Amino acid sequence: MQSNQTPRDERAAKRAITKDNADTKAELERVKDEVQQLKLACEGKNAEVADLKQILEGKEATDQGLRVCRGCDNQFSSAGRRLPRALNCGHTLCQSCVWSQAVINVRSNGDHDKKVHTCIVCNRITLLPLDCEEAGSAAKNYAILSYIDN
Ligand SMILES: [Zn+2]
Ligand SMILES: [Zn+2]
Repeated sequence: MQSNQTPRDERAAKRAITKDNADTKAELERVKDEVQQLKLACEGKNAEVADLKQILEGKEATDQGLRVCRGCDNQFSSAGRRLPRALNCGHTLCQSCVWSQAVINVRSNGDHDKKVHTCIVCNRITLLPLDCEEAGSAAKNYAILSYIDN
């Protein structure tokens, strides 16, 4: 069977196909570029999300650190055994931890007049009255109280 196309038509057809191919190639490059741009944008967003996640984790850790006693891992409360009590060193533990960790200070003459609390975080000493439950034995930490009330 003979083609009814003349060589001239064939050349024109070939040229058209070549042009089509070139167009397709150019389009492909454009799409590739676009994909690359989207990939970069996506990576940027992922980095942003990672940063925000880290900030959020930091905030949660801070929040946890302010709400929870380092001595017993219990949440502070605005009354009772879990009242946040500030030590002389600046650290804060719940009332129960401060009072249960305080030991009677026995002087060389056998007298005992104070209880000694050694901070579990920094080892500094806070002197407490013998009757720890006496008011003012260790100040309430009002900053934490106002924080946990929120
Ligand atoms: Zn505690
Ligand atoms: Zn301390």
